[in-house]
Amino acid sequence: MEKLLISACLLGNNVKYNGKNNKIDLSILNKIFEFVPICPEVDGGLSIPRKPSERVLNRVISIDGKDVTSNYELGKKIALNLAKKHHIKYALLKDKSPSCGNKLTYDGTFTSKLINQAGITAEALMQNGIMVFNENEINLLLESVKHYK
Ligand code: SF4
Repeated sequence: MEKLLISACLLGNNVKYNGKNNKIDLSILNKIFEFVPICPEVDGGLSIPRKPSERVLNRVISIDGKDVTSNYELGKKIALNLAKKHHIKYALLKDKSPSCGNKLTYDGTFTSKLINQAGITAEALMQNGIMVFNENEINLLLESVKHYK
């Protein structure tokens, strides 16, 4: 069965910065993928709950001004290693997250402004040839799987 790297919060795991999750209906994907969950922020050593953070160029800064880049970088390495180990071709990651966002992330000013910039982990996965989709792109993911079969 094809494996899918997936944000753990989309599976319903309470790993978000506020201790909650982003659970969605995954019943269609369940039938065709084996899920390989990641949470790069928790994998990188950050706590639950934790302060929200935003990407600023290649660094990540929390709302109280702490540089948490090393945690994000560690989470990225763990995700890349897991992807290699499981021969992952596809990922479904949470939109707009400074780790998992595949297209848009907040601009680092904590003013809810989004810019065209992927999250740290999503960017690295894409640079390594993995197709990364967000939770609003499940149809695109399904089309890609059909296309490359
Ligand atoms: Fe979800 Fe990714 Fe944030 Fe973890 S790092 S809570 S998996 S969006």
